[in-house]
Amino acid sequence: MSRLVLRGARYPGDVAIEGGRIVAVGDVAGQDGDEVRRVDGDLITAGFVNTHHHLYQWMTRGRAVGCDLFGWLTTLYPVWAKLEVEDVHAAARVGLAELLLSGCTTAADHHYLVPNGDDSVFDATAEAALEVGTRLHLARGSMDLGASDGGLPPDHVVEDLDAILASTERVINRWHDGERIVVTVAPCSPFSVTPQLMTESAALARRHGLRLHTHLAETREEEADCLARFGKRPLAVLDELGWVADDVWFAHGVHFDDAEVARLAETGAGVAHCPSSNARLASGFCRTPELLAAGVPVGLGVDGVASNEQGTLVTELRQALFSARQGAQRPDALMPADTLAMATTGGAACLGRDDVGRLSPGARADLVVWPADDLQDIPDPVDALVLGPDRRARHVYVEGELVVEDGHLTGMDLDAARTDLGRRSRRLWS
Ligand code: ZN
Repeated sequence: MSRLVLRGARYPGDVAIEGGRIVAVGDVAGQDGDEVRRVDGDLITAGFVNTHHHLYQWMTRGRAVGCDLFGWLTTLYPVWAKLEVEDVHAAARVGLAELLLSGCTTAADHHYLVPNGDDSVFDATAEAALEVGTRLHLARGSMDLGASDGGLPPDHVVEDLDAILASTERVINRWHDGERIVVTVAPCSPFSVTPQLMTESAALARRHGLRLHTHLAETREEEADCLARFGKRPLAVLDELGWVADDVWFAHGVHFDDAEVARLAETGAGVAHCPSSNARLASGFCRTPELLAAGVPVGLGVDGVASNEQGTLVTELRQALFSARQGAQRPDALMPADTLAMATTGGAACLGRDDVGRLSPGARADLVVWPADDLQDIPDPVDALVLGPDRRARHVYVEGELVVEDGHLTGMDLDAARTDLGRRSRRLWS
């Protein structure tokens, strides 16, 4: 098997790949039989990890644009109830392709809408990931607390608890391989699931050695809802259910107080920080500087495109830096290298992985070559990537396989997929 050497990158120098793994980084001496690709002046990073997404939400971009989270959700739940399996597949193809072109090689998709209990929606997403070429953490989401029982979602979009657990077992059996497709157990949020579903989901995940994921502490309204129904703040509610632990990562984590930050650090529970979505929905500023200082694993998340509107990951690095500085009102609250770490090692830690998110020998060869012709005058290449103008990947490798070459996906026709998705989205609103 020949070795591939990417030569001449401005950062971090050469990178050699063999057998799906990174084998050398820096000043790599040539060997007989090397295949060489010149990437002079470009930047190479580990493939980014997206720790929170809802791929199906591409279907409902640009709606409820003046609403907060609860108003936005109650506008969209009835529309999402009309999703068909083919819609989910179409949205996942485009969503994962956009992620890949924006540097994301591992994506977590939290899917909690399962119309008519048809769990082939998870097959649709997994098949899209295989087609596009990304790794997928397939979070089997769920809701079992409808409006008539005090939940936020209308009754017709929630599922029965036993049906959810049985389906989750099926999805694990069908898809979990621990590398390309990793199944996660993921009840949706405190205001859409019962405590019993949280408890039983945790037991199920732990029987299989899988991780747990849910939305938490996203808005003040959620906090008020937990205080009203349980007499406790959101993190305390989940702590009592065995959900604050090192096999869990929470989406958003905006409204944690000092004691809660310490509790996350003590237990090793992670946070998927979604800065654009938080800004779009006016949810508040995630306290990323305090979380990182305490040692909490923090990754970046695009969140659904219905609340992000863009669906790209490289842009979240810049937004994370801006949000942290604005929230803390300190210019050094978060530095470009901190946000790059969030997008790579931090995200991998949230997902419980140490084989991706690293540009070092032994790691899986998931990496991104970024064009940087227009950034040569910026002294620090990481500052340039994070703060500089938006860009798309030049080349992307997953497990050493070329999945984006010269800015184009090697595995699918993105223009045709976009056209199909646009048609489906219009049908959903007709
Ligand atoms: Zn979300």
